[in-house]
Amino acid sequence: MFDKVLIANRGEIALRIHRACQEMGIATVAVHSTADEDAMHVRLANESVCIGPPASKDSYLNIPSIIAAAEITGADAIHPGYGFLSESDKFAEIVAEHKFEFIGPTADHIRLMGDKISAKKVVKKLGIPVVPGSDGEVTGIMDAKKIAKDIGYPVIVKAASGGGGRGMKVVHSENELDSAIKACKKEAGASFGDDAVYLEKYLTLPRHIEFQIIADKHGNVCHLGERDCSLQRRHQKVLEEAPSPALNSAERTRMGDVVSKAIEGLGYIGVGTIEFLYENGEFYFIEMNTRLQVEHPITEMITGIDLVREQIRVASGLPLSFSQEDIKFSGHAIECRINAEDPFTFVPSPGKIGDYHTPGGLGVRVDSGIYCGYTIPPYYDSMIAKLIVHGKTRNECLMRLRRALGEYVIDGIKTTIPLHQSLIRETDFINGAYDIHWLENYLNNMD
Ligand code: ADP
Repeated sequence: MFDKVLIANRGEIALRIHRACQEMGIATVAVHSTADEDAMHVRLANESVCIGPPASKDSYLNIPSIIAAAEITGADAIHPGYGFLSESDKFAEIVAEHKFEFIGPTADHIRLMGDKISAKKVVKKLGIPVVPGSDGEVTGIMDAKKIAKDIGYPVIVKAASGGGGRGMKVVHSENELDSAIKACKKEAGASFGDDAVYLEKYLTLPRHIEFQIIADKHGNVCHLGERDCSLQRRHQKVLEEAPSPALNSAERTRMGDVVSKAIEGLGYIGVGTIEFLYENGEFYFIEMNTRLQVEHPITEMITGIDLVREQIRVASGLPLSFSQEDIKFSGHAIECRINAEDPFTFVPSPGKIGDYHTPGGLGVRVDSGIYCGYTIPPYYDSMIAKLIVHGKTRNECLMRLRRALGEYVIDGIKTTIPLHQSLIRETDFINGAYDIHWLENYLNNMD
């Protein structure tokens, strides 16, 4: 097992990883930009190293600085968290070249899954159903028109290297196709340095359902059930729940087995998430994330498994501490992503936090790095906290979430707490009757 882990991230996830390390008796090294000197992950870590100025490209994405920090502190392993360098095959490769353990999959697996076109091809061969679409990159407009006609409109043009909900364009008819492909290629080239795009059938009423998997270096693979992340704004998740209100246990077992078998065939190691769109009882693969997800805590709440602890254990070469039969799903969990933003216009609201009171009690968990008097810097993602609630049933979970959101006080800035408070009172949400477009429609109807 490692003696010291460097955490190449910030905010709540840096703290989350620190906590797992502490419980395992592993010392931690925090890295931070000059804007994050007062951050909680820096305060709590055993050691900290400043790696550059505020801009992410000069600090949290600065590979030489991070490697130097690992060298001078004598860390054994580097945990990338999510975002930043977590899905950089180049970073994983450099970490390994410098003889540190990368707490994540191999660079080859990151590369393979990072290109959505190659990912789709590979998982299809391994028996996972995919969204109907082009077999690979779309090269010419005549080709594109033929494929779109075959699969039927609406279609979606997607960037092979896209992420974070960007690099996608929905096309409703043939006369929009050419300009959509051109626009998508341009955006993809500028944002991701790769202008390859592909076509998919645009599903009109799907849910976003994803399966959590974990695999060790000894050939053991388990799935930890699904999460429903259909409540999205601009293709970004806002609230997630596990299990999905739309699945029964037979479907969970069937799909979980398909996913586990594919991951075994891939020879993948570490935690990962297979994302699907689910419509009319069918699953369609959209992508695989080769890292820990923001929403991993809801899976932890219903399985009682510490995913970060297991992730560190498998990276160090230990076998999984459980088998598929040991995993029991218990109750229901919901996570609300709380952003420093106006709850209805979504304009960012960084600044100094005044009074701060977190909710507590049975089944309530807050993952956050903020505190009274802390100033949220304007340079990074606006998510400042995750409120995670667990109950014996979905109904108990909803009652508890209502209570916990009401207790949460974050003064001095605007947050998305009021948005969560109103949407969990909606009949459709209470009934679990929502798809990936529900939240956008709800927000549009509020104006
Ligand atoms: P990213 O990597 O940017 O997160 P994804 O491929 O995971 O992109 O898609 C993000 C979201 O975009 C999905 O959860 C869904 O809401 C929407 N989306 C993606 N592909 C399709 C599709 N074929 N049909 C309908 N919606 C889609």
